[in-house]
Amino acid sequence: MSRPSPEESTPLPRTLYTNATVFTAEGFLADAFVVEGSRFLHVGKEADARQIAGESATEVDLGGGFVLPGFIDAHTHLLMMGQALQKVPLREASNLADLQRCLREAADSTAAQRILGAGWLYSSLDEKQPTKELLDEAVPDRPVYLDANDLHSVWVNSAALAELGIDDNTPDPIGGRIGRNPLTGKADGMLYETATQQIVWPALAAYTSDKDRDAQLEEAFTNYLAVGVTGAVDMAVQDDDLAAFRRALARHNNTLPIRVKGHILVSRHESEAANVAQVHKAAALATELNSDWLQICGIKLVVDGVIDSCTAAMKEPYADGSSCEPIWDRESLTPVVAAADAAGLQIALHAIGDEASDIALDALEEAGRRNGPRDRRHRIEHLETVTEANVKRLAALGVVASMQPVHADPAIQENWQSMLGDHRIERAYPWTEFTDAGATLALSTDAPTAPHQPLPNLYVASTRLSALNPTLEANLPGYALNLADALGHATRDAAFSCRAEDRQGRIAAGYLADFTVLDSNPLAAEPAQLLANKARMTVVGGKVAFHAGTTTAAPFQGGHALSQPA
Ligand SMILES: [Zn+2]
Repeated sequence: MSRPSPEESTPLPRTLYTNATVFTAEGFLADAFVVEGSRFLHVGKEADARQIAGESATEVDLGGGFVLPGFIDAHTHLLMMGQALQKVPLREASNLADLQRCLREAADSTAAQRILGAGWLYSSLDEKQPTKELLDEAVPDRPVYLDANDLHSVWVNSAALAELGIDDNTPDPIGGRIGRNPLTGKADGMLYETATQQIVWPALAAYTSDKDRDAQLEEAFTNYLAVGVTGAVDMAVQDDDLAAFRRALARHNNTLPIRVKGHILVSRHESEAANVAQVHKAAALATELNSDWLQICGIKLVVDGVIDSCTAAMKEPYADGSSCEPIWDRESLTPVVAAADAAGLQIALHAIGDEASDIALDALEEAGRRNGPRDRRHRIEHLETVTEANVKRLAALGVVASMQPVHADPAIQENWQSMLGDHRIERAYPWTEFTDAGATLALSTDAPTAPHQPLPNLYVASTRLSALNPTLEANLPGYALNLADALGHATRDAAFSCRAEDRQGRIAAGYLADFTVLDSNPLAAEPAQLLANKARMTVVGGKVAFHAGTTTAAPFQGGHALSQPA
């Protein structure tokens, strides 16, 4: 595996790391390793590592820490995550006075033109209704926009209502509602459902500058590094994301703080030609942006919606008798998938309902028939409900199962289960069925629809218990993964999901020296230890990118922005 250094004449610096338990993701634990330049040179026993490192190597004593390959979040949304992290966190506010204090402090500490907050709970308002007046008391001088915890409503103050152009006569949008005072009929500061999506979100997007997006992307990078994540697959790259990535490359001297892979979002248009044109655009970008720091590796198609709002495509109706057509049917999907497969792109298909995974697999199978045998690496995202036959079909096709343990957290299952309402909930998020069938399982968080931290995600993965509310019963514990396996799915297999298995996701000679050091060994502790474990240090390409105590990152907040897979 080891590659010759480009500067054969100048020896690269070597660092010997000792006094650690090293999870290599190669089926064994080691206790020392050597990094030469940006890559691992050797992994194994300390005596051998010391000899190979040589006398001139720098030695780093890891103090008994637990080393593992840097996590790769195999499905995330970097800009959106950074944006969510920049909002005032309100979930911990336990009463109205507390919430107002948080907002006042935030307003005092910034000259920003707007105060954005997230995560507030109705239960923290001392039984009062949220009104613009309550927010005006805290921040009267500029607009305040607060996302509710479930992201289905936004609470704003008077300045924000004025900025949005909403007055007492503004009609409700279809599928949404402008909250009104029951006595006076005046707009009260609450905006529900499509009133948030169609009025608030576009308005806020228009106030977002490139500089803001740059700061959001950096926020995502910083927060990932602080929890041991060294790589991410951005699963819906659009023009704004791409432009932000290019500016980040320029800022960081043609590198990035973490390694980014991107799937270009292909949206459905009326004509096949317009759909396939997006594939050709993605193929051109994949040729242009193709480094170990930023690589456009494929396309993303959202085949259906989500179960919580009955928009996932199911074979049988929902509990209320409704059903929903897929966003992409077989006829529209197949030519796009076949074109992307022929172009050598990776294809990621969002499929949550059991009918959607059927459609996705049919399209991938047909692409295989049309294009013949080739080196392909396709994936299906989420797979929350899936038939046993399709689990086997996915495995036989060599398609990667890309799944998010955090979405199975018992704390967010109530609505999901009641929408299906029958035996189908007994086969929810069946991770081990995929691995038993021989499929590669890659784990991720889908941040910001769920917290971006990998360790709470692995806690849910290995217990099916809630990382948000420890008192809840496990959600189908028979599908829990062995923790060591889960660590492999979040590192080695996540690398496989983005075709980086020859250089990322393992601690092995020749691989890129991306790793993180936890304060203790979770494999030797109770599962709950995962919720307390902290990253001490994160190294990317041989360079220390995070050291505990030197950067500020958002703490794990139970349920931060938990919502729908995106
Ligand atoms: Zn997503």
